[in-house]
Amino acid sequence: MTNEWNARLLDTQRFTESAGHAAFHTGLHSLARVQEVCDNPGVNATQTECEWSLSGEIRGSGPRRQSWLQLEAAVSLPQHCQRCLEPMSVDIKVNRWFRFVDDEATALAEDDDCEEDLLVTSGEFNAFELLEDELLLALPLIVSHADCQPPASTALVDDLPHPFAALAGLKKSKT
Ligand SMILES: [Zn+2]
Repeated sequence: MTNEWNARLLDTQRFTESAGHAAFHTGLHSLARVQEVCDNPGVNATQTECEWSLSGEIRGSGPRRQSWLQLEAAVSLPQHCQRCLEPMSVDIKVNRWFRFVDDEATALAEDDDCEEDLLVTSGEFNAFELLEDELLLALPLIVSHADCQPPASTALVDDLPHPFAALAGLKKSKT
C-alpha cells in the first residue's frame, strides 16, 4: 500500500487542512519501544503487525478554528500471563483524538484546562512516536488470562534458573 503521507515527517498543518487520511501496516520491529515490552521480540517481531491510521480534521472557523488528529491502531502483542506464565496475545486497540496547538508553551498553558490531549503543530511530526506512546499506555500493567491457575510451586522452582547459581557463574568467569 502506498501512502502520500510520511508518518515519520508529517506536515501536521497540511494534513489537517486537507482532511488527510493515511493507513499503515507496521511490523513490531519498527516500533522498538513496544517491541521491548513483548515476549521473545526476535521471534515475534516479524510476525506481529500493527494496523494503524491517521485522520486529520479542521473544526470551527475564525479564531475558534482548531486542528485535530485521530489516531486509530490495533495490534496483538505477544506477552506472557503473569499468573500461569504461559504465552498469550494481548489485543491492543487505540482510538484517540488530539488537538494541535502552535507551540510547547501553549500546550503547557492549556493542558490543565482542557480534556483533550494536545500536540504541537510541526512540519516534521513523527507519528510513530505518538503511536508507540499510545500503544504502551494502552497495554495493561498486569497481563493475565481471565481464568487460569498459577503453576505448582515445585515446578516453578525447577524450571527457573536459580539466581545464585547464575551469580556463582559470574564470579567464576572473573577469576
Ligand atoms: Zn494464565
